[in-house]
Amino acid sequence: MENYHQYTFYRGRVGLFAILKVLGVKKGDKVLTQAFTCLAVPEAIMSIGATPIYVDTEKNSVNMDLEDLKKKINEDYKALIVQHTYGIPARIEKLAELASQYGIPVIEDCCHTFNSSIGGKEVGNFGVSSFYSFEWGKPIVAGLGGSVIINDDEIRTKFEQEYQLFSPPPRLATLKINIQYFVFKLMFRPIYYWYLKKTFRKLSTMGIAEGNYNAVSEELNEDFTYLMTSSAYRRMVSKLRRLEDLNKKQLEITEYYDSHLDFEKGSIEKPLIQENSIIFYARYPLITENKYQLLEKAEMQNIEISDWYTTVIHPLNESELDQVHYHLGSCPNAESLSKRIISLPVGQSVDDRYMKKVVNFLNTFKE
Ligand SMILES: *Cc1c(COP(=O)(O)O)cnc(C)c1O
Repeated sequence: MENYHQYTFYRGRVGLFAILKVLGVKKGDKVLTQAFTCLAVPEAIMSIGATPIYVDTEKNSVNMDLEDLKKKINEDYKALIVQHTYGIPARIEKLAELASQYGIPVIEDCCHTFNSSIGGKEVGNFGVSSFYSFEWGKPIVAGLGGSVIINDDEIRTKFEQEYQLFSPPPRLATLKINIQYFVFKLMFRPIYYWYLKKTFRKLSTMGIAEGNYNAVSEELNEDFTYLMTSSAYRRMVSKLRRLEDLNKKQLEITEYYDSHLDFEKGSIEKPLIQENSIIFYARYPLITENKYQLLEKAEMQNIEISDWYTTVIHPLNESELDQVHYHLGSCPNAESLSKRIISLPVGQSVDDRYMKKVVNFLNTFKE
């Protein structure tokens, strides 16, 4: 087992926040990150008082565009966050090489995968640091939680000090997470997907469920001072021990999708994948021109197909994007992608019946 359990935080974004602090990112600084991400990332950057600057995705790819980074990069940036979206490795070597020319440290967002690799090297090993998440929808679900890996000895010494400043969350927060986890465990399977989605939204607005996202505000949210809860930690450690089995099952599922989905028909395609990649997906993404029609039909037939990311900064809607310094039109590929992407589950709860059903659904779909 790798050191995924060494530095653990309340959430993945809290880990990112800690890394940024240790790298010396301060109020007024700018940090590069990709559009087509979730609010967790800009939230961490903005919690420091820094500004996220968005790099577009490569055309028909879920990952950062090297060419757009070349246009935007200069010495003023304090960090570059590279995300391996859905578990598909980004062009990390090239991106990191470019950043190093400007003396900018690279942080890898590995929230979607532990073991994906490119050119024989696992993601998470290319930058000074990487971070992980253990919340709903991630490869390992522990409730809420995140962790950090540091690849640089000098930074590790500073990080150790910073880590001392974090404290265990209050018991009420822990209790809420535990309740949600048990509900999740009972219900998180494809047949309950659409039902849960609606219920979770309702509970979130009622303030019962610990929602995925905090409102964007100027003041530092308390979440950014907490470690992982002890119960989430225990669940994480026990599941990390079984990571190999999880990965194996997940590969079987993605191989089934790969070999049974009808890509010839032209209504779905896989996003761009770099050569020499081995992918352990968080979800299996597909690009389609019929996203909304497909989702509507899937819901009617109660088949789990997910819509994330729904916008370039999920789950903000277009009118909210300026709150996280995203300007509509600035990353056209990512904007287009969010309107064309769907994804299929690859987790433990996926059985043969679901796989056959979803493949049949997609292969027979007509506009
Ligand atoms: C889930 C996720 C995070 C972190 O999420 P937390 O809820 O803070 O654990 C960060 N980046 C990406 C791309 C994610 O999907």
